[in-house]
Amino acid sequence: MAATSTTAAATPKANISAVSMRNINKWYGAMHVLRNVNLDVASGERVVICGPSGSGKSTLIRCINRLEEHQEGEIAVDGVKLDQNRATLDTVRSEVGMVFQSFNLFPHLTVLENCTLAPMLVRRVPRHEAESLAKSYLERVRIPDQANKFPGQLSGGQQQRVAIARALCMKPKIMLFDEPTSALDPEMVKEVLDTMVSLAKDGMTMICVTHEMGFAREVADRVVFMDCGEIVESGHPDAMFGAPKSERLQAFLGQVL
Ligand code: ADP
Ligand code: MG
Repeated sequence: MAATSTTAAATPKANISAVSMRNINKWYGAMHVLRNVNLDVASGERVVICGPSGSGKSTLIRCINRLEEHQEGEIAVDGVKLDQNRATLDTVRSEVGMVFQSFNLFPHLTVLENCTLAPMLVRRVPRHEAESLAKSYLERVRIPDQANKFPGQLSGGQQQRVAIARALCMKPKIMLFDEPTSALDPEMVKEVLDTMVSLAKDGMTMICVTHEMGFAREVADRVVFMDCGEIVESGHPDAMFGAPKSERLQAFLGQVL
């Protein structure tokens, strides 16, 4: 017993979820868009969220880094409970990277500047360090030669890989992806998915809203299916896609598979 408690003391965060959502309810005006959502994501876990358009997927992941505010329930990120405190928000946002469907790069900054801006401003990383970090991540997403171009000079797939590199430059503990491939031409989807697969295989904690079932099967530890603001069903991808229990998931898979 003594040995166990020593181990627990040495790793105080071992039992803390990367993300914990408890009884989350959210309304936009009168519209109830998140209904009693409970979701725990362990450190290193890869979760794929799927569901019909308008089911609340984006709202759910945007609540994690407070791009949207929930009205009821509790969210904790790496043990830090979200509240109205600016310092809490800054802590959580610097730990959570986000990649959007529409890339959201700064068009007037070069690729390199897009990647160095937040580390320099938020983390106070000196320029030369921020640049060398950015170059290493651009290498990682396989576009080191695009560093001095502007986003508008790149293809969609390249822009999305810059967006991933930019998020990684903040050394996040958790990455959120909101349909990162759905704005891309089909031939560019694979290069972005390959980047995400490699990130997943390196152990990054990831929550990905995507309908890319091949990606889900390859890397997801768990698939969460949402409909009408609720988590209807969740489980291992093989069970979710091979033997869906609810009629709603069966109907959804009938449309996307
Ligand atoms: P999904 O990502 O699954 O398509 P969303 O989370 O974007 O769903 O939207 C859930 C519901 O909330 C939809 O009915 C949508 O129209 C509505 N909604 C989303 N964002 C807003 C907003 N900013 N203001 C009002 N309604 C919104
Ligand atoms: Mg969405």
